[in-house]
Amino acid sequence: MSFSQNLISKELTQQMQQWRRDIHAHPETAFEEVRTAKLVEETLLDMGLPVETGIAQTGLVATLKNGAGPTIGLRADMDALDIHELTGKPYASKYPGKMHACGHDGHTAMLLGAARYLTEHRPFKGTIHFIFQPAEENEGGARVMVEEGLFERFPCDAVFGLHNAPRMPLGHFGIRTGPMLSASDFFEIEITGTGAHAAYPQSGTDAIVAGAQLVLALQQIVSRNNDPLNPLVVSVTEFRGGDTWNVLPEKVVIRGTCRCFSEEVRHQTKKRFEEICTGIQSQSGATVQLNYIEGYPATVNEEKATQYAIRAAQQIAGKERVNTECPQRMGSEDFGFMQQACPGAYIVMGTSETGSEANVHNPYYDFNDNALGLGAAYWIELVKQFCPA
Ligand SMILES: [Zn+2]
Ligand SMILES: [Zn+2]
Repeated sequence: MSFSQNLISKELTQQMQQWRRDIHAHPETAFEEVRTAKLVEETLLDMGLPVETGIAQTGLVATLKNGAGPTIGLRADMDALDIHELTGKPYASKYPGKMHACGHDGHTAMLLGAARYLTEHRPFKGTIHFIFQPAEENEGGARVMVEEGLFERFPCDAVFGLHNAPRMPLGHFGIRTGPMLSASDFFEIEITGTGAHAAYPQSGTDAIVAGAQLVLALQQIVSRNNDPLNPLVVSVTEFRGGDTWNVLPEKVVIRGTCRCFSEEVRHQTKKRFEEICTGIQSQSGATVQLNYIEGYPATVNEEKATQYAIRAAQQIAGKERVNTECPQRMGSEDFGFMQQACPGAYIVMGTSETGSEANVHNPYYDFNDNALGLGAAYWIELVKQFCPA
């Protein structure tokens, strides 16, 4: 592919592949990325960069200064998933039940590659913070880094994130201004009735019927309370209760997730959950206890930062290969926590060459090494645009 060859040497591409496969073979999950963080730290120290470790346990930041100019933050995630790898690749996971199935091994290697190039060539004026974060999957490592003072210790004029997309052709990018990925919240509802012989329902308080009514009532938040032009998903994913045919159980547990793009919808949804639970409680006589857990905020791309990301991607991939109206997705990312603290833009980069590669979070998924040069070139171009020499 011609887009990255100009910028990234064959030697650096091979180096990135070596890092990527090493990290791939040793996947570590949320806040346990000890070996990965050590590899990243030592590689950055070898480049001569100062490195601050132990931010959100295994997170780290390296800084490269080159004269006076703007400050840019570039973020890569380092964590793996609790999936048993089935790729059979020579560099497949050595740890049973753990796997780099989201390509964070590639993200880490690309940012390291960009750091090496930028350190050696310095085609910019300003400061770069290379942010390597733990625990993107489920645990919100980005939130912990922000809470531990990421942007107070390393103030950035803007922060940027990138994710590989195995459903998009290699050499293509997707981005949009405003909300791009949804917020994700979770709920657990415990319904406690009074157990009884199933033949004598009048002597108990039925948690199953109360639970069934609750599931249907929750569906009305989307269909009756929410503006259809503002997307919302309410999914009940778990309904547990009862052990046998002839007993009304005392307890039912319902779990699920809500996804949306706006904070207003998010708050309205939570409020409706509370109201519906109170309503079902008084109607059924069972006790309904709601635990509504706020997960990740929406990934919302700030306008100016997005323009920089678009220009950089267009420079690397060509204007026609950058979709600036990338469709919104109901999936989530913890990069939104960083964007709440600092203007930022998140871009997706296509990695597909056959159109039939396994998608992320699949045991057959593998990050496409042919995309390493492209990702690194994007970071480098972004720095050149944001911090012109
Ligand atoms: Zn993932
Ligand atoms: Zn991911």
